[in-house]
Amino acid sequence: MGARSRISEMAINEKGETTMETVTSIAGGVNSIQDIYGSNVFNLKTMRNYLSEKAYASLSKTIKDAGKLDPSIADEVADAMKNWALSKGATHYTHWFQPLTGLTAEKHDSFISLDGEGGVVLEFSGSELIQGEPDASSFPSGGLRPTFEARGYTGWDPTSPAFIKEGPKAATLCIPTYFVGWKGEALDKKTPLLRSMKALNKQVERLAKILGIKATQKPYATLGGEQEYFLIDRNYYNQRIDLVQTGRTLYGKEPAKHQQMADHYFGAIKDRVIAFMEDFDREMWKLGAPSKTRHNEVAPAQYEIAPIFENQNLAVDHNMLCMEVMQRVAKRHGLACLLHEKPFSGINGSGKHNNWSVTGPDGKNWFSPGSNPHENERFLIMLVAVLRAVDENAALLRAGVASAANDHRLGSHEAPPAIISVYLGEQLTDIIEQIEKGGAKSSKAGGTLEVGVDSLPVLPRHASDRNRTSPFAFTGSKFEFRAVGSSMSLAGPNVILNTIVADAIDQICAELESAGGENINKAVQKLLQNYIKKYKRVIFNGDNYTEVWAKEAKKRGLPNLKTTPEALAVTKDAKVIAMFERHGVLTKTELVSRYDVYMETYNTILKYESDLAAQMAKNMIMPAVLSYQGGLAETIKAVETSNKGKVIETRKILKEITGLTETAWEQIARLEKVSPSGAAEKIKSAMEELRETIDTLEGYIPAETWPLPSYAEMLFLS
Ligand code: ADP
Ligand code: MG
Repeated sequence: MGARSRISEMAINEKGETTMETVTSIAGGVNSIQDIYGSNVFNLKTMRNYLSEKAYASLSKTIKDAGKLDPSIADEVADAMKNWALSKGATHYTHWFQPLTGLTAEKHDSFISLDGEGGVVLEFSGSELIQGEPDASSFPSGGLRPTFEARGYTGWDPTSPAFIKEGPKAATLCIPTYFVGWKGEALDKKTPLLRSMKALNKQVERLAKILGIKATQKPYATLGGEQEYFLIDRNYYNQRIDLVQTGRTLYGKEPAKHQQMADHYFGAIKDRVIAFMEDFDREMWKLGAPSKTRHNEVAPAQYEIAPIFENQNLAVDHNMLCMEVMQRVAKRHGLACLLHEKPFSGINGSGKHNNWSVTGPDGKNWFSPGSNPHENERFLIMLVAVLRAVDENAALLRAGVASAANDHRLGSHEAPPAIISVYLGEQLTDIIEQIEKGGAKSSKAGGTLEVGVDSLPVLPRHASDRNRTSPFAFTGSKFEFRAVGSSMSLAGPNVILNTIVADAIDQICAELESAGGENINKAVQKLLQNYIKKYKRVIFNGDNYTEVWAKEAKKRGLPNLKTTPEALAVTKDAKVIAMFERHGVLTKTELVSRYDVYMETYNTILKYESDLAAQMAKNMIMPAVLSYQGGLAETIKAVETSNKGKVIETRKILKEITGLTETAWEQIARLEKVSPSGAAEKIKSAMEELRETIDTLEGYIPAETWPLPSYAEMLFLS
């Protein structure tokens, strides 16, 4: 029996345990990981075995250059994909896409066709591979696609390879696709991502030309998405209707011990959790997703995984799969994986760290400071491009991470604030300041500085100490955008990042080009100086969690958009629309439709959360409160009659509970009254007031009659 078949057999038994055999086969050596890695992906290596040389050459070129597929090979590719999928036990295929719900979507078709003799043949044609038309009228389109002409098309994105999703009995071939309306309007998250990558590439290529950098390949953005999440016992999860329905706890008293000691962070991983992680990694590796790092996070029951960075489009798809696989594997282990940005009030929330960089047409990381002046020049231009991009579009970046859930997290003393600033670290900031003053003191003298910049300093390779509070930090060779929420698709924030940086590079190129005959070094020198002067207000190296910074940011004129509606409004700004249109990423109509969809989502979430909060209070919590209250009253009466003594302290407790009970009823009524009005801020404060009363009551009512598992029970998994 070969290593591969042993691996696929190893599965987990019904109780979620892995078998001994599994463990030995993985521990048995590196080979088994190498065997399973990518085994469920129709990647270049696999294609080579299934395609003719001609088709392989054509398709691999399409993939590498993000080009157009040659339609004449479509049938051959589809047939190859089908044969491979059948060998993996697939019975169905699906176009796998990413609508504006922020989730992934799939509709399966089996490979069967009738053979006319009472049997079937298995078929999959080029046209079925390239285009699909799911009956997708129920996906949000923000009025772009009224249901009477509900045509939405999915189209194959060959730059993200097809893969197999294993089911309990058989498998499904998944084909990553974009999703557009009949005039090509983007209805999904992938279409603008691909467009924005193209826009960025175009400007990077243009800059390379100006700087005399030789192109050997297409440039591309890279992305590594770190993913935070919680794991709790599934039995507790099932008893919490709020978690099941909204992803977060609407009630719950903070436990005496939570994360004060930070003793969970990087701690030894508990057996039950490591078993989950081992399975998770294996599932991801099979999908060719390079899961790399795993550890405990700060909050109890909170964890993180990080992949090796990849081409941005692929990394976004892999993160979507990561979220799906996590939830599925957790279930197998009797756990629930919580991806909500703030599942527990008063406890750290979860985010995604969006590590972003650009690999240039020279194959080098353009955010790597490098050690010679040529590299410095390239790096410093990219750096000021980012400063400009973030400074001019801080509000837009904030809009890109706006959601009802993330509003609970941003700015709550553990996550970056809603104010978007850039962290560069002391050394880089010092260099920037020197350049601003007209050249750096610690300049690299002499040498062959024909194309380089004469007086640029040698740049430190690891300039940054780690400032964990910054929303947008330079971390050695990439920028890390940390305001992204844990449950979000990475597509949105990256569309914005690509576009705003493309726009800044566009302006830079225009300036350098118009410098014309002037010495390019001088022109760069001047540009760097100007840009630093103009955009340095967005640099902040201090503690982002403090009030002092909020005040300082206000002085500097940096926006602080606390809520989703405020943030989303930015996407309707004429300048923002013009920028997206200029770079061919999103049209005005597409932007407005997105605004409508996201606002509606926000309001819908608020509405069902408030309805559920009122409902849970009324039919779960208050009955428990009332019955304890009744019991206490009875007890007092009984004790006083039989004992003839006065019951003093217990009476006080009864009085307190009675007071809280009355308050809770009033607050429930108020919540029910404001909820239909749709006034977001009023609904939120009505929910918060009620929650405070209920959480206080939780401290009085006997634990065994409280109808919901407590924070302590859920967070301290053993
Ligand atoms: P941290 O600074 O958070 O400790 P690491 O250096 O380990 O992290 O990297 C965090 C993430 O950044 C990983 O997913 C890693 O692959 C990714 N990363 C590293 N270099 C790049 C790059 N050039 N482009 C995009 N992501 C990168
Ligand atoms: Mg990080």
